[in-house]
Amino acid sequence: MNLYNKYRPKNMLEFVGQNHLKKSIFYFLKNKKIPSSFLFFGKKGTGKTSFVNIFYRLLNCKQFNNNLFCNTCKNCLLIKKNKNLDYYKLDASINRKIEKVEELISYFKYLPIKFKYKLICIDEIHLLSKQAISLLLNFLEFPPSYIKFILLTTELDKIPTPIVSRCILFNFKNLTVNQIFKHLINISKKENIICTRKSLLLISEYSNGSIRDSLNLLEIAKSISSKITSKIINLFLNKISKRFIFKIFKFLLNRKISNILKIIIWIKKKKIEISKFILNILNYLNCLIFYKFFYNYFPFYYYNENENNYKYINLSFLKLKLIRRYLIYEISYFNYIVYDYNCLFCLFFEIYYIINTQERI
Ligand SMILES: [Zn+2]
Repeated sequence: MNLYNKYRPKNMLEFVGQNHLKKSIFYFLKNKKIPSSFLFFGKKGTGKTSFVNIFYRLLNCKQFNNNLFCNTCKNCLLIKKNKNLDYYKLDASINRKIEKVEELISYFKYLPIKFKYKLICIDEIHLLSKQAISLLLNFLEFPPSYIKFILLTTELDKIPTPIVSRCILFNFKNLTVNQIFKHLINISKKENIICTRKSLLLISEYSNGSIRDSLNLLEIAKSISSKITSKIINLFLNKISKRFIFKIFKFLLNRKISNILKIIIWIKKKKIEISKFILNILNYLNCLIFYKFFYNYFPFYYYNENENNYKYINLSFLKLKLIRRYLIYEISYFNYIVYDYNCLFCLFFEIYYIINTQERI
């Protein structure tokens, strides 16, 4: 089991962040005024699915207290035995057809088997087909009193307004670096992972507010090294140094194909994602073009400690522009073939060709 699934929060105490939503849900449950439809929206990995699972437990617990289900009442014990009792989940990313919604409707025609409510959760609802959405809409308008809907989406702007207006909106905010950092410290202790605080901070910063991304990164780092340091994190986050980019261009310019091959083998060994690698080069090229254009200055150099001097590479505007355009064109392709290193060779070859072809301006 991966770290993310292993440490999925089982109750609100373990749940990281989203305190505004915890308060709202507690308010609804405490006052027994639970809206019939919710729409949870927010980025992947911000806790939507875990929140639904905990809500399901709270909704059915007979003696929940302070957003914690008791785990001992009759209903809690029933759920322990049979996890999906009076609970139906549809993942629209797997099945978006109208037949699935029809199946769902037939499910909520009947009264709950054991509990007061039937909970229906539709994940990635924006992926449902148009017909499926309009069928669902009819039922969202006047659902039976025993039905509670929770709709989940990562793309709120794709949800038709009639659906949005019929739901209570729950905004799952990106988690802060600090929230993720604390969580990572906690988990690395439980898992006995040897790591520096700085490395965990780097992961937290890089996860863009997603707990899932942060734990996946921690997992990859763990598989690379028994001791996680910031150097290792920088390496697999593909924060390639300027010096490294310089080296690649130097080899390309000097037609040192064997060295380029060595670089590809190195990238392959370090399991660096090609699209991220390209992005690093692109960012650097953008910076070069900016300086060249506005200041007529070309900072494509590095300081060579052994020779105690600076090494320069100069490339014309046209060549920079062509390489940049080519990389932008390729980057989406490499999003699909993340680790195809043969393609990386072709990519270098294209740049090699651009660099070493005589310009005609
Ligand atoms: Zn209970």
